[in-house]
Amino acid sequence: SGRWAKAIAILKEFEEKSGTPISKLRQVADAMTVEMHAGLASEGGSKLKMLISYVDNLPTGDEKGLFYALDLGGTNFRVLRVQLGGKEKRVVNQEFDEVSIPPHLMTGTSEALFDFIAEALAKFVATEGEGFHPAPGRQRELGFTFSFPVNDTIGTLAGGRYHNQDVAAAVILGTGTNAAYVERAHAIPKWHGLLPKSGEMVINMEWGNFRSSHLPLTEYDQALDAESLNPGEQIFEKTISGMYLGDIVRRVLCRMAEEAAFFGDTVPPKLSIPFILSIGVIVKENDMERDNIKENCHWTPDMSAMHHDTSPDLRVVGSKLKDILEISNTSLKMRKVIVELCDIVATRGARLSAAGIFGILKKLGRDTARDGEKLKSVIALDGGLYEHYTKFSTCMESTFKELLGGEVAENIVIEHSNDGSGIGAALLAASHSQYL
Ligand code: ADP
Ligand code: MG
Repeated sequence: SGRWAKAIAILKEFEEKSGTPISKLRQVADAMTVEMHAGLASEGGSKLKMLISYVDNLPTGDEKGLFYALDLGGTNFRVLRVQLGGKEKRVVNQEFDEVSIPPHLMTGTSEALFDFIAEALAKFVATEGEGFHPAPGRQRELGFTFSFPVNDTIGTLAGGRYHNQDVAAAVILGTGTNAAYVERAHAIPKWHGLLPKSGEMVINMEWGNFRSSHLPLTEYDQALDAESLNPGEQIFEKTISGMYLGDIVRRVLCRMAEEAAFFGDTVPPKLSIPFILSIGVIVKENDMERDNIKENCHWTPDMSAMHHDTSPDLRVVGSKLKDILEISNTSLKMRKVIVELCDIVATRGARLSAAGIFGILKKLGRDTARDGEKLKSVIALDGGLYEHYTKFSTCMESTFKELLGGEVAENIVIEHSNDGSGIGAALLAASHSQYL
């Protein structure tokens, strides 16, 4: 029928506009490299902040002793301790405690919040027992990571490096996205201090804010951005990360419902609620509270469940549509269209992430094989999107290989680095210990 044809036309137009042929990905990667240079050259020189993290020593694996970490997230925080045993024994022991933050403290003063945290930390330290050995005559050392620039991405990098010295960069693909990598200190013109002894400096790229005319942005992306909490910012993140993917799907579906009566004569009311707009009203200028709300108000996990549905009648798609959007009686044909839509959105995000990582490798000169030299590079990946959205991560990894090309691809590996934020902070306390 005419309606069906119209719906398919909307889908196809979206697919075409969000296309990521390899030539485009190469342009995106080149633009990433250019922006990295600009951000390192001067403060404010690029959309990429390229923050100097002051982490100039990453763990080697030799670290020994007891170290603590505080990991402050959106709704709760974790305190943890690790007993490190050096190269052979590695993490001998670890313990953690998770404490949820009372809502009134999230909107109150920082003094009250940190008093609360200090108290919980003191209680945790008091339970230190068998298997944890503070060095005699030394104070305990603690690393701190929280939802703020200079953060969990660096923890992931540290955690990855602890286990594998070939780790050159870390990327988080979760609710948001970010990347950090190890830069040669002399390649940071905006750094005017003494060069660190190691000759290296970890750079927190804040790559979510990357943008380029080469990004395949559609009218749906523009609308999402305009209605977001931070219009004009985090454009790369808005095409890639967990907070937004589901909303792009929703927007295209909404257009199909409005202009092609995809779900019948009326537009399902739930489909027209931009989740970002609906929460925008109650969100204050408070990063932690915003993170908390972000986590719970988007449906990328549902999108992923629909995308992975392998049942012949696409049962999962049917029930998700019923549960989330209150749309019942969807035909198999409609469900197939929805899976295709999820695939288009996830594929673009995954391929753009791969291009971003390729851009970092280019910046480091690790994207080509030099004669005879087998330079190994490992990229540490973490985050819920990467971990749980299998079709996304599979596509990202194969695109990355495609960009690298056969010969180099053998020397470059993407590795899952688990729980970077917590352990990573403890490892950084160890590699920066004042007793070294
Ligand atoms: P954060 O980035 O907030 O630290 P995580 O790294 O733990 O969070 O990732 C959580 C995010 O991962 C969720 O907000 C969601 O976007 C995404 N996610 C979690 N589970 C799934 C899933 N099954 N499929 C797709 N995305 C998921
Ligand atoms: Mg996280």
